[in-house]
Amino acid sequence: MLAGIPGSRTSPSCSLRGLRRFAHGAERYGTTYTLPSVVAALRFLDEDGQDVELDVHEAAALLALTDELEAATVSACAQCRSRVLATVALVDLLDAAQPHPRSGDLISLADEAPTLHLYVLDLMTECRHSLWRDPGFAEWLDVIEGDAPDVRS
Ligand SMILES: [Zn+2]
Repeated sequence: MLAGIPGSRTSPSCSLRGLRRFAHGAERYGTTYTLPSVVAALRFLDEDGQDVELDVHEAAALLALTDELEAATVSACAQCRSRVLATVALVDLLDAAQPHPRSGDLISLADEAPTLHLYVLDLMTECRHSLWRDPGFAEWLDVIEGDAPDVRS
């Protein structure tokens, strides 16, 4: 008779453990689906606001293939990867580089850009661009504003 009491106590504690296990499972499930694999890392914009976004892997590959876009860079932030690119030089650079899955998108963005410049916004780095002082920064900010509300001149 007394043995029945501890027996009945195990049943709620069992279901509590089950609940906890369920919560852990849900947590892990959630983590798996919030990995930043599809989050944009670099955004290329023209003056009209047309854009091409690269994810972390695409951005890393592009920067490696193009030597950090150095040959096409007109003006750049010293503290992040935001920069102003010359469209003609960018097309030349992409043509000469090893093929990249997004080269075609970037070349057509550059070809159809209304001005000679494209603007790159680094979405992965928190940066106030405080050391970016040349006129390229003002031009970049004009295009980027609205895309990055936290940027202040
Ligand atoms: Zn910066």
